[in-house]
Amino acid sequence: MTARRELLRLIIGITAIAGLAMPSAMAASGDIIGVAMPTKSSARWIDDGNNIVARLKAKGYKPDLQYADDDIPNQLAQIENMVTMGAKVLVIASIDGTTLTDVLAQARDAGVKVIAYDRLIKGSPNVDYYATFDNFKVGVEQGTSIVDALGLKDGKGPFNIELFGGSPDDNNAYFFYDGAMSVLKPYIDAKKLVVRSGQMGMDKVAILRWDPATAQARMDNLLSAYYGNARLDAVLSPYDGLSIGIISSLKGVGYGSGTMKMPIVTGQDAEVQSVKSIIAGEQYSTIFKDTRDLAKVAVDMVDALENGKTPEINDDKTYNNGKKIVPSYLLTPVVVTKANWKKVLIDSGYYKASQFQ
Ligand code: BGC
Repeated sequence: MTARRELLRLIIGITAIAGLAMPSAMAASGDIIGVAMPTKSSARWIDDGNNIVARLKAKGYKPDLQYADDDIPNQLAQIENMVTMGAKVLVIASIDGTTLTDVLAQARDAGVKVIAYDRLIKGSPNVDYYATFDNFKVGVEQGTSIVDALGLKDGKGPFNIELFGGSPDDNNAYFFYDGAMSVLKPYIDAKKLVVRSGQMGMDKVAILRWDPATAQARMDNLLSAYYGNARLDAVLSPYDGLSIGIISSLKGVGYGSGTMKMPIVTGQDAEVQSVKSIIAGEQYSTIFKDTRDLAKVAVDMVDALENGKTPEINDDKTYNNGKKIVPSYLLTPVVVTKANWKKVLIDSGYYKASQFQ
């Protein structure tokens, strides 16, 4: 009797433990989740990938993380493969947001859910959710840091400025540019900011695939064509990688040494090399987007979809992809300068102080 009661108690105990563990573990049951990232050439995407994988594993999923070397056919093949391998949800940071329509139709036929990660996927009805930052605000912050640094609100100027945009196949690039111009355009109209090259608009200032070397070459051309006898005071750059190319071009003609002060140069992603450049007084600002938070939002969306729940969103009007308005969760970007980098990047635990010594 006692032995049987012991056995019974053991069975009840085991069932209780299994029951506790069950809700998320059972729902996930080791499902494959495809994670398609664009490139490893920029640290932020490596952090994104690692953060997503860690969170998926903690919830019992099997992540399949792939990087596509900024090659569109490569990314298509990777996503196709994820569908074939039986992924239940895809988390995709696209290279070209307009090229995934066919593969996402295949995904839909196979019952796979799709989350656009950071970059909107365009032209496809088969995008279920979008996890990103407030991309317009990124641009607003970039523009505002130029206005503040130059003292435009105090009536200073006129100053010369040149504008750079991100990759024309990345929807974010337009939001960054439009956000920045919402702040800068009134000063351009009032002739307090002067674009000597006259090159304005994404069709003139975009840098394909966010390539630093292309930005550097464009800056070289602008400097030699328009700034032989004039000083350049500011450069709107949407991404740290481009800023590195732009700054090395500026240094090439003497900015940042002797009496030639470095122009105000913006950036985005708070990459280590660029934060060092900010500390050294070269780049002026960057935008910090906490990839830990973005990964959490995306993985929570995955988990909700896997459990038949509705993912949390906070925006249902901004991101029209041409086929639908994609329900989105937007996180808040934070501007970083020499004045607050420690507080924002070290105190938050995002980086270690030793990375900057
Ligand atoms: C991202 C930025 C990044 C850029 C280049 C954009 O889509 O939102 O954070 O700087 O791509 O990788």
